Amino acid sequence: MRDDSPNSWEARADAHSFYGFTDLPSIAERGTVVLTHGEGPYVVDVHGRKYLDSNSGLWNMVAGFDHKGMAEAAKAQYDRFPGYHSLFGRMSDQTVMLSEKLIEVSPFKRGKVFYTNSGSEANDTMVKMLWFLGRSEGKPERRKILTRKNGYHGVTAVAASMTGKPYNEVFGLPLDGFIHLTCPHYWREGRKGETEAEFTARMGKELEDVIEREGADTIAAFVAEPVMGAGGVIPPSEGYFKTVALILKKHGIPLVADEVITGFGRTGSDWGCQAYDFIPDAIISSKNLTAGYFPMGAVILGPELADRLQAAVEEVEEFPHGFTASGHPVGCAVALKAIEVIMEGSDGAAPLIDNVRALTPKFEAEMARLAKHPHIGEARGKGLMGALEAVKDKATKTPFDGDLSVSERIANTCTDHGLICRPLGQAVVLCPAFVMIEPQMDEMFQKLEAALNKVFEEVV
Ligand code: PLP
Repeated sequence: MRDDSPNSWEARADAHSFYGFTDLPSIAERGTVVLTHGEGPYVVDVHGRKYLDSNSGLWNMVAGFDHKGMAEAAKAQYDRFPGYHSLFGRMSDQTVMLSEKLIEVSPFKRGKVFYTNSGSEANDTMVKMLWFLGRSEGKPERRKILTRKNGYHGVTAVAASMTGKPYNEVFGLPLDGFIHLTCPHYWREGRKGETEAEFTARMGKELEDVIEREGADTIAAFVAEPVMGAGGVIPPSEGYFKTVALILKKHGIPLVADEVITGFGRTGSDWGCQAYDFIPDAIISSKNLTAGYFPMGAVILGPELADRLQAAVEEVEEFPHGFTASGHPVGCAVALKAIEVIMEGSDGAAPLIDNVRALTPKFEAEMARLAKHPHIGEARGKGLMGALEAVKDKATKTPFDGDLSVSERIANTCTDHGLICRPLGQAVVLCPAFVMIEPQMDEMFQKLEAALNKVFEEVV
């Protein structure tokens, strides 16, 4: 709870920090939780209070908050070569090694990588690559980007335009040419009497109709998260990506998988696209790429797009794009270590993805148990990402009155009891670190269940 003394951490945070994605009335009441360090999947605040972070930071601190190997990899690289770019014909040895490794562990096995500092910038970069390619291939009108409502792709002007959330209207976004299709959430979007297969077919038909209406030659790409994350952990309806991929292929439109959350094991597969059995033309990566130990994003181009872009750039001799910290050597060293830790096993420890797979049945069982609650409308997820959707009326799926702020209340109650979880719409989202162990998972679900019971008792 807030400490209002003038020099409190809460007051100091308020005085000089401009908050993003933060509900100001809630902060005014509760104060910012100021953190000093972490232990495994827990974080500790300035008052010494410990919280189990069920969201692993922002989906990304999958190796926990005190992984020695990760920190040592960063330190070793800081000592050796603490910073450089990857432009003008120079790049660090770590950057070369990471690109090799990323292609090796990607579903492509051949392709090219471009580095950014974030997932948003990776999405912007991808779109600029596609716009560049369109002009180079004599199709300057091939600029439109198809995404889905509720999809989240970041906050820079292009990535925010891709994002299918109404809050971007406050910025006058989306920009022209960004088209948001229906969210493939069968539970919420399915019509009365419509089977899941019929729903998926309707999603396919909508895509066909949009392509016909806009003209395939005007569409640069379809970009989708294999499982929507910030939209409220929404796995696609059965067969969705198979349907969509076929339609896109028929029209020659690239399919880009935004794997900022799903990449590197979150779903239990190496990549989210593998969990849903499709191969995209490019992958957008960030977050788990460095297990959150360094800000970094990457565009991973599959073979066809890589070849076409390479040919297009060779014609004009240069791709005029890049960030000061593109391919930062410390970021690359950290990412190499993260891949080892997550996918291969490191320093005698098993790969963390094994733990994701081992914990998933328990996670799913606990979610299914909580789904029986009279005010949980749906429990959904994939691997170690899940959401519980609160409803006023389970039978009609009627949400609670927005003014009740049900999911925020649940999250606040959890925080009061030492559990951080994230409200998204009327859902509460869980996305624990891959280092979590069973007793910690028990703690997470026990605290969440207690908060659900308390809040539903208050609001019903
Ligand atoms: N894409 C997806 C799927 C994301 O979940 C996010 C962030 O949550 C982004 C892109 C943007 O990444 P960043 O916040 O690093 O810019």
